[in-house]
Amino acid sequence: MVKVLITGAAGQVGSELVKLAPADFEVVGYNSSELDITNALQVQQIVAEQAPALIINAAAYTAVDKAESDAERAYAVNETGVKNLAEAALAIGIPVFHISTDYVFDGTATEPYKETDPVGPSGVYGASKLAGEQVLANSGVKHIILRTSWVFGAEGNNFVKIMLRLGKERDTLGVVADQHGCPTSAASIANVLWQLAQKYTEEGELTWGIYHFSNSPATTWHGFACEIFKQAVSAGVLEKAPVVNQIKTSDYPTPAKRPAWSVMDCSALANVLGSGVPGWQQELSTVLNDLNA
Ligand code: NDP
Repeated sequence: MVKVLITGAAGQVGSELVKLAPADFEVVGYNSSELDITNALQVQQIVAEQAPALIINAAAYTAVDKAESDAERAYAVNETGVKNLAEAALAIGIPVFHISTDYVFDGTATEPYKETDPVGPSGVYGASKLAGEQVLANSGVKHIILRTSWVFGAEGNNFVKIMLRLGKERDTLGVVADQHGCPTSAASIANVLWQLAQKYTEEGELTWGIYHFSNSPATTWHGFACEIFKQAVSAGVLEKAPVVNQIKTSDYPTPAKRPAWSVMDCSALANVLGSGVPGWQQELSTVLNDLNA
């Protein structure tokens, strides 16, 4: 059995990583109260004691708007926390798989972002995640950085859950139609990370570095909301769909600026894994069935 240590195990992606672990892996999952990645000593002790073959970091400060007024905490988790994990991994010679975000880009592109495209985050959250990428890349640890976008799942708080709640409360909604991106299920992120873990344990190596991964095709938050309501009504999760009006980003001001373009080119990872990119509509249907169960 190959032992894998997972941080942030109660989060959207962390909980799917624990749930979807292949049988040949032994998972030790820690939630934030059991392992605080900002605590260097605790990280060192637990990693040394468990001696895993791999760390998957699903812990992060993900409150995008709150980060604007809470930069210290965002950097403590998203940069220092990653540094602590990298140092502990280096001490026992194991790799780290880490998750990052489309928010490292400035969102002004019109073509899907490639891994090599210049970064330029426009908010504290994106900047702190970029700092985490850099600290890991410069640590000397073998690493995978998987940048993803618009995460949804049955666990935790996300756009799907917000839409379902608003859909029950209101007859009409306005949803932003000028931000483009790719919704991505937490389960599909977990599956891709496990595929990479399997490849690493079978081959003893990987092509390390940054990869983009999201579900396809690209849509807008408005397009995503319409599909959520369509599927929720046919799955019996909602009685009736509200009217969903298109609004502009400027009609819905938020403390953190959102990228207008979040679409990423995921072909590099598909080539490594020899598999296609899952469609988010199908992933959404699985999540709605889970929520209905
Ligand atoms: P969640 O917020 O659902 O999960 C993050 C988990 O990290 C939470 O369980 C949280 O615990 C835990 N955590 C926070 N601080 C610490 C800490 N100091 N030590 C240990 N654990 C901690 O996030 P997701 O699962 O959605 O995100 C997973 C990854 O994907 C993150 O790296 C995120 O940046 C990235 N990502 C997410 C996107 C999204 O839309 N959600 C989009 C793009 C990328 P607690 O709740 O107790 O604080």
